[in-house]
Amino acid sequence: MKILPLCAAATLLASPALAQTKAPDPARLKATVEALVRFGTRHTLSSATDPKRGIGAARRWGAAEFGKIAKGCGGCLTVETVADRFSGPRAPDGVEIVDVLAIQKGMGDPDEVVIVAGHIDSRVSDVMDATSDAPGANDDGSGTALVIEAARVLAGETFDGTIVYALLSGEEQGLWGGKLLASTAKARGWKVRAMLNNDIVGNTVGQNGRIVADRVRVFSEGIRSSEDQKAGLTRRATGGEDDGPSRALAKKIDTIAQENPQIGLDVFAVRRPDRFGRGGDHTPSLELGYPAVRFSVGIENYDQQHQDLRTENGRVYGDTVDRMDFPYLARVTALNVATIRELAAAPAAPATVSLDGALSMDTRVFWDAVPGAAAYHVYWRRADAQDWTDGRIVTGATQAVLTDVVVDDHFIGVAAVAKDGMESLVTFGGMAPRK
Ligand SMILES: [Zn+2]
Repeated sequence: MKILPLCAAATLLASPALAQTKAPDPARLKATVEALVRFGTRHTLSSATDPKRGIGAARRWGAAEFGKIAKGCGGCLTVETVADRFSGPRAPDGVEIVDVLAIQKGMGDPDEVVIVAGHIDSRVSDVMDATSDAPGANDDGSGTALVIEAARVLAGETFDGTIVYALLSGEEQGLWGGKLLASTAKARGWKVRAMLNNDIVGNTVGQNGRIVADRVRVFSEGIRSSEDQKAGLTRRATGGEDDGPSRALAKKIDTIAQENPQIGLDVFAVRRPDRFGRGGDHTPSLELGYPAVRFSVGIENYDQQHQDLRTENGRVYGDTVDRMDFPYLARVTALNVATIRELAAAPAAPATVSLDGALSMDTRVFWDAVPGAAAYHVYWRRADAQDWTDGRIVTGATQAVLTDVVVDDHFIGVAAVAKDGMESLVTFGGMAPRK
């Protein structure tokens, strides 16, 4: 979707996400996944201390890769680990979960944070089997490689906001690394603008043999899981089921993909938080109210997920490197990078947007001022549509009148825009507070 501004500030929209200096490299992504597979298993209950095999060795290797990138950019990344003990049916004796983080501190408002994550742990058929080879090339060596590659590409660039590159553990045992990441964000007072979870992002041949190489699914929730009863009542009266922060993030990613055709990916914005009845490492972030989505391949191959390495009746099972498509993984990485670039450079989204226009042919929109915003982008669409169709750039004001836009028939939202055109997520317009 390309929004044509109705006023003179057209330069504000000049392809901001195109300022690309380095591109994700399929060969380097492949080398990262191969290195991960060489740890034999990365099962969460495997050895944390063995120097060559198991989750501990893999995590230390991931931290060392971040360290190399940090060295190459004059210390632009701080590498650290966060840890906590978790237990549950899939770890009855408890296990220490460690997340490896590389933090690229923002130059303007470092508390504003964009997170990109993948899980480094792997598994085979029996989720308690911590000793068999579990290559986890695609699940989730692909997401892990994407996160490290995103750090390589973005290192050395400067942003107002902070970027956190996260390698998570314990996904297969209970989304514990995702929980630890979300609680770390909360404890540190991070204002999370986006949490991009990448899980299974590196194959293009489906279970049925179909090839889908030009599409990525982005899963998002419409109504935020952290919504309280009062907010729920307001939303039921005014709409917004397709416009929660997670859905706004998915729509933003879709827009970025369309504005960057050189990436070569169509976003299939699935209106569901994750695959049917399932969850991922973004789920704990959603529970805390952070805008979070899951990227996953356009078509899945279940013979290559959570399977013991074996051949049965000529059918090959297992999550191995040879089944992956690295040029595709590079495209998904490029879309993550473009999204991070824009959101780490944009102002924050307006805290609230209110509408007024009952019994009128016009709608008045007003919103909270955002520090650092050079302008605002007011969006609207018919109330039977999902994606924004119309927009107007507003400068020097925190309100606008949309003539002949009847509030009953339209959804309206506002994004904050930086000097260079980078735009925040869209905040959905609700009921004006009674004065
Ligand atoms: Zn996974």
